Amino acid sequence: MKKLAIYIHIPFCVRKCLYCDFLSAPASDETREQYVQALCREIREERKSYVNYKIETIFLGGGTPSLLSGEQLDRILGTVFDAYQVADDCEISMEVNPGTVTKEKLKAYKRAGVNRLSIGMQSAVEEELQSLGRIHSSEDAFDTYELAIKTGFNNINIDLMSAIPGQTIESWKESLKRILDLEPAPAHVSAYSLIIEEGTPFFEKTPTLPDEDTEREMYKITNDILSEAGYLRYEISNYAKPGFACRHNCTYWERGSYAGFGIGAASLVEQVRFSNTRNLKDYLGKYLKNATVAIKENRQELSVEEQMEEFMFLGLRMMRGVSAGKFSDLFGKTIEQVYPGIVEKYCRQGLLQKIPEQGSGEVRIALTERGIDVSNVIMADFLLT
Ligand code: SF4
Repeated sequence: MKKLAIYIHIPFCVRKCLYCDFLSAPASDETREQYVQALCREIREERKSYVNYKIETIFLGGGTPSLLSGEQLDRILGTVFDAYQVADDCEISMEVNPGTVTKEKLKAYKRAGVNRLSIGMQSAVEEELQSLGRIHSSEDAFDTYELAIKTGFNNINIDLMSAIPGQTIESWKESLKRILDLEPAPAHVSAYSLIIEEGTPFFEKTPTLPDEDTEREMYKITNDILSEAGYLRYEISNYAKPGFACRHNCTYWERGSYAGFGIGAASLVEQVRFSNTRNLKDYLGKYLKNATVAIKENRQELSVEEQMEEFMFLGLRMMRGVSAGKFSDLFGKTIEQVYPGIVEKYCRQGLLQKIPEQGSGEVRIALTERGIDVSNVIMADFLLT
């Protein structure tokens, strides 16, 4: 059977954070309930497309999935379990925002099948959370973590954000230190830097941000401190204790097949990309009132060139890099034939490295520490279209 990852989008938040351009908005209890009903219908109706697939991972993202009640979450996952073949060891992750969960809710999520939580802490410094417009305090975030541990979750990610307004090297170290002081420390840490996106309040009136050198220094410090504490950096911005890398996200970087449900959710199946409408009204109309409206849109059959470039620039995000042998097997040409001189050039500059691949006699091509700093430039060199 082929492998499939499922992404389920929950587009609701208590209120918008100042930097956020995700597809999410506040909504009434009634709208949330209608959405859950529509989502369950979409999941059921789509099963015919995936009869030959086994579900290896499920990820509930948003938005704020933890605005759902335990019963709603149970209905959604129950629909997946009923309609699809789900692997026994399926990784089922859910994003949880501090200030939106109780012990009872977490217990219900666990009962429903969730076995990995991702807590959107962002910072352990009060003023920084306020500057981002987050609804929670750092204590709320630590309380959520403690509740999750007490509920029996042992696979927990904490999301942190660097290069945010008012942040200094010292305050960034403070955030890292506070999460490492947790008992037990989280199994996984995601550390992305803030990006100012068009259409957000931060884009209209950009606050003073740490300069580029400081941002780079923060990246370096993150790696130093987390490596020292026993985490493996397995992707540019992701760190895990051994055995706790997020399998779902690895599917994206390795270009495995995934199906997205809910508004705005993206899919990649058999080298075809498509996404769901971003229009909530259309989505509810289709699944609750049988309106004749197209939900799956932006269908794009990827050319071989597009597949090759995605293979390279998504794969290079991972510290283990890309397999030269796999590239040849998939595309019938070597990396050198498709990208003459590029790998060698960056190897000479110390930005890429070749790592022998165990057992195959082939090599993997991966970023070096220095290469990570300029990864955008390197990846751009692998574009073909
Ligand atoms: S909680 Fe997350 S999805 Fe919701 S508004 Fe804030 S950043 Fe956006």
